[in-house]
Amino acid sequence: MSEAKIIDGKAFAAGLRERVAGEVAALKAEHGVIPGLAVVLVGEDPASQVYVRNKGEQTTAAGMYSETHRLAEDTPETELFALIDRLNSDPAIHGILVQFPVPAHLSQDRIVARISPDKDVDGLTVTNAGRLASGLPALTSCTPVGCMMLLKDVLGDLKGKRAVVIGRSNLMGKPMAQLLLAADCTVTIAHSRTVDLPAVCREADILVAAVGRAEMVRGDWIKPGAVVIDVGISRFPSRDPVKAAEGKTRLVGDVAFDEAKAVAGWITPVPGGVGPMTIACLLANTLTAAKRLHGIGA
Ligand code: NAP
Repeated sequence: MSEAKIIDGKAFAAGLRERVAGEVAALKAEHGVIPGLAVVLVGEDPASQVYVRNKGEQTTAAGMYSETHRLAEDTPETELFALIDRLNSDPAIHGILVQFPVPAHLSQDRIVARISPDKDVDGLTVTNAGRLASGLPALTSCTPVGCMMLLKDVLGDLKGKRAVVIGRSNLMGKPMAQLLLAADCTVTIAHSRTVDLPAVCREADILVAAVGRAEMVRGDWIKPGAVVIDVGISRFPSRDPVKAAEGKTRLVGDVAFDEAKAVAGWITPVPGGVGPMTIACLLANTLTAAKRLHGIGA
């Protein structure tokens, strides 16, 4: 059998960002509305700093209004909530994203509950999760939305496919499974207590790994010809000792790429697969939120 084809998330995301920028320009010209995204970062987590900077830059590049709020590590909940309340009622802001993880004294659940569901561009509120599960229009977590776009691009119709999602987080595994179900896949959600995970995975026409354990999924877990979407990100020191000494890291996915490539039909690389889709979908969600908040056909 021939090697898997590589799913180029980087190129797909660039195209998506261009389409969003075009729609943003049209929204501004026709309705005078500029979508606005506020990103809130609490503390100094280095990976989060990079994500937040990229989000701000790409928001501006798409012609949107961008605001970044950097709060100190020891910011009390009351102060963070006051900011979220202000953003909830700010007409220039259509999307609010609090970068997780947050420092240990803050509760992720309480923060999410404070964000207006209409501006919840991460799709984490109970309202948006419930709407997604009920088949109603919802703002849906960016990474699963991005994975679905890549899958539809490769497979077209997903109807009747056997899909296995490894991971059941509110951010990734659960919304991914809901989106696959809505696309008429037969869906299994696997997790840390799943018995004989390799055998479960071998049934999948579509395998989505969202765990965070480097190269856990081996080549012999994969059904020949399956589409493999690797969401996982684990960071290791760069292989180049000079770069490693400078603190540079390399990213490794959940799938043993070389083994999987010999068996799968299609596969996303890490980096350059799912990763770039996340911010592109965040821009798309912010555009959708802006249209809905202004009652403009979305
Ligand atoms: P998470 O909240 O830590 O969830 C991980 C899930 O993996 C849990 O449901 C856990 O099961 C399951 N799991 C852990 N060990 C397992 C094992 N040995 N076998 C089977 N399942 C196992 O993580 P997350 O937020 O969903 O993110 C998952 C990965 O995706 C991380 O590496 C994250 O960095 C990455 N990610 C990437 C992007 C992107 O833009 N590319 C976006 C979001 C997340 P239990 O529920 O039983 O504990």
